[in-house]
Amino acid sequence: MVYMSVERRHKCIVCGRPFPEGQGIVLRISGEVLEFHSSKCFSKFARDLLTRLPEEEVKGYIKKLREEYIELLEQKQRLRSKRIA
Ligand SMILES: [Zn+2]
Repeated sequence: MVYMSVERRHKCIVCGRPFPEGQGIVLRISGEVLEFHSSKCFSKFARDLLTRLPEEEVKGYIKKLREEYIELLEQKQRLRSKRIA
């Protein structure tokens, strides 16, 4: 049973801090497991990743994602103003 708890522990790839399953941020992307103990460590990694990705390839995704977030914000604002009225 101790084995199980050891198995379920993660190690932050940015600062090396261990953390249990269910905490932190664990991403599985194309066979890689990316483990971050906090959103601060994740944003450090994400920022590095963004600066290294080829601009030509990511700019379309960035634009689209940004538009989706703006749309979500507008939806929330519409809901809020409906509630007030
Ligand atoms: Zn960390």
